[in-house]
Amino acid sequence: LSDKLGGIFDGLKRRGALKESDVQAAMREVRMALLEADVALPVAKKFIADVTKEAVGQKVLKSVSPGQQVVKIVNDAMVEMLGSESQSISTASVPPVPILMVGLQGSGKTTSTGKIAKRLTEKENKKVLMASLDTRRPAAQEQLKILGEQIGVKTLPIITGQQPVEIARRAMDAAKLQGFDVVMLDTAGRLHVDADLMTEVRMVRDLVNPHETLLVADSLTGQDAVNVASEFDKQVNITGVVLTRMDGDGRGGAALSMRAVTGKPIKLVGTGEKMEALEEFHPERVASRILGMGDVVSLVEKAQETIDEAEAEKMAKKMAKGTFDLEDMRSQIRQMAKMGGMKGVLNLLPGVGKIKQAMNQSSVDDKVFKRQEAIINSMTPQERAKPQVLNASRKKRIAAGSGVTVADVNKLLKMHKQMAKTMKQMTKLQKSGRMPNMGG
Ligand code: GDP
Ligand code: MG
Repeated sequence: LSDKLGGIFDGLKRRGALKESDVQAAMREVRMALLEADVALPVAKKFIADVTKEAVGQKVLKSVSPGQQVVKIVNDAMVEMLGSESQSISTASVPPVPILMVGLQGSGKTTSTGKIAKRLTEKENKKVLMASLDTRRPAAQEQLKILGEQIGVKTLPIITGQQPVEIARRAMDAAKLQGFDVVMLDTAGRLHVDADLMTEVRMVRDLVNPHETLLVADSLTGQDAVNVASEFDKQVNITGVVLTRMDGDGRGGAALSMRAVTGKPIKLVGTGEKMEALEEFHPERVASRILGMGDVVSLVEKAQETIDEAEAEKMAKKMAKGTFDLEDMRSQIRQMAKMGGMKGVLNLLPGVGKIKQAMNQSSVDDKVFKRQEAIINSMTPQERAKPQVLNASRKKRIAAGSGVTVADVNKLLKMHKQMAKTMKQMTKLQKSGRMPNMGG
């Protein structure tokens, strides 16, 4: 995305401010990213309109390219829209505090009920009672009971034949009598939002008057997210959203859609089937996921301060050609040393798990940077350009020249190979418009 933006804005460098026509051209790309991430159409439209208004007329900063600047404006706006600070689940009320879990069938209600109960028990020392009001699916109540045993949280004893409202009343009564702090009510879902479901949920809500009503929603929900969220909010007045399956490969556009139409915070994020797989919501992460650029914005911020722009441009050109020799690796090492360690930088880049592994093995620190640079310094320009010529006797000479062992030289060469390969892959991705261009 930012690669394309960079192109669009290249001609703009010497002009004073971001112009409407230029911003609009960039926004076409942003719009593509939003729709690809399954952000609902009306939400995407409004977002684009707002950001365009904000971006037009902004002074072009000298220190960054206009492309980077727009990426940052877009990203910041999205983070703000997603809700800048994370909000946790509130239990600050007279116990037993009822928490009602609602959502479509299969969205992850029962799983999330267990996860939240476990978290409240372990992290906040709450005495939690769980009850399943799902009388639709035969094994639903049993499912919650088994979960409860697994995580050590009490569940309301099952009495067959009771209606959801009766079960809810029984749960609240039992909790009062037995001194529970929190009652988690897991409801039945439907495949689609329907009147029947809403009536059932509303009856429960009216009875228990929940302190939190959490809409559990699959992050892979596409255009339907707006409808689901606004219906539930209208009918039962949700207090927050739990977004599940963020471990999948969806881009999380649903988060933006739901937040936009309800104004209700996304409180927690499910990241797997296990009971531990529950995390705080990080707006920045979801924003960059939607925009498909890894944590490019923080990278841009960090890089702005340290990377020599000319150097970066040279590197980008080489990468585009698909060549990455030891000379390049040396300047890369120097930049990385400046940027506070390779691990820090790599963590910000998407798709570099492999190099990271290789680096963890060689336990990267500043000393390692110095040693790697020394090894490359001991090579001739020809050797740097064509590492293939490095035979045993040359390696020996280089090792002696830089005060390391031949094994160290080999390690560096292996790392270089890995990096060259990754650079190639990144170039390919970049050409397909999915990756940031670090050169701006
Ligand atoms: P419910 O019908 O809303 O109660 O949905 P369930 O809680 O029974 O979950 C349906 C399926 O989704 C189960 O197989 C869960 O293990 C799975 N699931 C729930 N949350 C997550 C999540 O965050 N990530 C992944 N990968 N699977 C999840
Ligand atoms: Mg369920």
